[in-house]
Amino acid sequence: MDLISIIVPCYNEQESLPLFYEEMNRVMEQMKGTADFELLLVDDGSTDRTLEEMRTLAKKDCRVRYVSFSRNFGKEGALYAGLQKAKGDYIAVMDADLQDPPSLVPEMYRTLKTTDYDCVATRRRNRHGEPPVRSFLARCFYGIFNRMSQVRMKEATRDFRLMTRRVLDAILSMQEYNRFSKGIFSWVGFRTKWLEFENVERVAGKTKWSLKALLRYSMEAFLSFTTAPLLFPLVLGVLLGVFSVVLLIVLGVSAACGNPLAWYWILIDALAFFGGLQLVCLGVFGAYFSKMYMEIKNRPIYIVKEQSEEGEACDR
Ligand code: UDP
Ligand code: MG
Repeated sequence: MDLISIIVPCYNEQESLPLFYEEMNRVMEQMKGTADFELLLVDDGSTDRTLEEMRTLAKKDCRVRYVSFSRNFGKEGALYAGLQKAKGDYIAVMDADLQDPPSLVPEMYRTLKTTDYDCVATRRRNRHGEPPVRSFLARCFYGIFNRMSQVRMKEATRDFRLMTRRVLDAILSMQEYNRFSKGIFSWVGFRTKWLEFENVERVAGKTKWSLKALLRYSMEAFLSFTTAPLLFPLVLGVLLGVFSVVLLIVLGVSAACGNPLAWYWILIDALAFFGGLQLVCLGVFGAYFSKMYMEIKNRPIYIVKEQSEEGEACDR
């Protein structure tokens, strides 16, 4: 029978966690005989009674395992730890606050079992109950990000997903320190089916994402998945250079025709030209730097989905 690992990052979720377990337990009972489960709870340095709750659950239910961090490392770190420790054939990640409905798990599992998909991911159909400023900023973020990065990200996606072991292995092969999971999930590829569901408010506790934290998070996305900004000076420098050369020709003609003011403008134009030249130099530096940056990340060059067995062709 297949083993499904459910990874749950938890930061100060003492109220949500028991509720989550209850709900998840219902699903696990419902799927009894279809699949086995392990619940991997990751305590991301909580300062409340989250860890005690985890100990209690682990004592009560042998399917529950937990890891506890020495301090708060952020959700990305907690996710990574969970993914590394998962033993399942299928692996799901979901939040502790029931914003990711456990009731979707059976359908996700069925999809992976019966179709060619490697991953079932989720997105919210709407952003009801979210502050309008936050929705607006999120939309701007996805718009700009998708234009600048080669990695495509859908709007309103959640981290909540169920994936096969081979997708997990691909994710783990990306060993970069600064992790932006939404980007990583997309970068590794594989066929992904999207499920949509209505936005639900968290059951208890409060969100850990302040506006500042969200801005830092989007910054992480840009820095991890695009080096396009490093090439801005190059583009700007070339534009400025071309513009000042064209202007120089016009001003040259004007000066030749006896316009005394033209000489004054030629001087200013020369300044613009050299400014452009400096930007180009900076851009060239940026171009090399962007290559170096990606090289240091040490990402895999490619990811194999499956391959034929050794010697398969020779048996004929
Ligand atoms: N979380 C975490 N470490 C953090 C912040 C959050 O492990 O530093 C967990 C949190 O306990 C929850 C999930 O990440 O299970 C999502 O957090 P939250 O619900 O606050 O985010 P939102 O749903 O508001 O985007
Ligand atoms: Mg939440």
